[in-house]
Amino acid sequence: MSISKSAENLIGKAQEGKELNRKEIIRLLTLPVNCSPELFYAADKVRKDQAGDEIFLRGIIEFSNHCERNCLYCGLRKGNAKLSRYRMSEDEIITTVKQIKKTGIPTVVLQSGEDSFYSTDVVCRLIERIRKETDLIITLSIGERPLNDYKAFQQAGANRYLLKHETASKDLYKYLRPGCNWQNRLQCLRRLKELGFETGTGNMVGLPGQTPEILADDLLMMKLLDADMLGIGPFIAHPDTPLAGLDHDGLALILRVLALARLLTRNTNIPATTALATFHPQGRLLALQAGANVVMPDFTPEIYKTLYDIYPGRTVVGPAVKIIGKLENNFQSIGRTINYNIGQRQKHK
Ligand code: SAM
Ligand code: SF4
Repeated sequence: MSISKSAENLIGKAQEGKELNRKEIIRLLTLPVNCSPELFYAADKVRKDQAGDEIFLRGIIEFSNHCERNCLYCGLRKGNAKLSRYRMSEDEIITTVKQIKKTGIPTVVLQSGEDSFYSTDVVCRLIERIRKETDLIITLSIGERPLNDYKAFQQAGANRYLLKHETASKDLYKYLRPGCNWQNRLQCLRRLKELGFETGTGNMVGLPGQTPEILADDLLMMKLLDADMLGIGPFIAHPDTPLAGLDHDGLALILRVLALARLLTRNTNIPATTALATFHPQGRLLALQAGANVVMPDFTPEIYKTLYDIYPGRTVVGPAVKIIGKLENNFQSIGRTINYNIGQRQKHK
């Protein structure tokens, strides 16, 4: 069934990079199902033109599952007494970073719960060692910290920081992240950007209470923050959290948000997230064909991997090297290859 002329025009406008207002974004989010292929095709073309045809890899290490926060959606929340907790030592982290380097992947993402055990000094020492012993590009994803910490991390040699805004709705944020402040999260993002970090933000799609209006605001916020990376993934309900059982089947909606993020922000780096691969067997490949250009293989040592239990079903069994081989085959099946360069956000074309 062909799509309406007005839908076609709106998708065309987005593909050309013309400014879209909130109402138009909401319309694109809520178009009839038969419009999805057209929207994904437009995003794929813009990805090809603005970010290239190759897929960039980031090796991720989830070095601690301790968290002082209590986000309602997350299995690592401090209120989850069922989870066995772990912390990787500095040497264990360095050994794992060296494994990433061996594969040729040029960047490491260090992620954890908000865990003050890793003080400013500890994180800085780790950054300095990684730079000295491997020279990999370092992305941190360790939550909200004071400005002086961000400054210290940067001086020590960290290059990038991922801090998803999670949702553009202040009310929803307040409900989902008790004791946290939405303005503070945004201030952290602005500070990171001002300090010169390549900064990543993003959201979860399928959260309870989320509306197309809120998703449109998420997309406008990604644009406003001028983020360099955008993590967009499904919310997956964890059985040991207050949101247990609130499952959703919004694959098409997630892909639409991702495609719109590509159309609105043009040249950003957008991962096909692990959450998407967990949510749907074809999630990763579909995302790569709807605007995504980055994949983040998990190098967390096997003994810890299953304990980084943000949401259920995420563990991919086997060493990362094997996983990369498998990914390479998958990428080839959609005519794409891996690029082992650092994959900095391209200058606007
Ligand atoms: N603690 C840091 C933070 O919150 O920014 C980094 C680690 S946190 C586990 C990384 C991301 O996991 C969050 O930004 C959030 O979007 C995602 N996440 C947490 N629980 C999730 C869930 N149930 N489903 C999907 N994503 C989830
Ligand atoms: Fe902690 Fe991050 Fe999970 Fe919130 S999302 S509970 S801050 S690990």
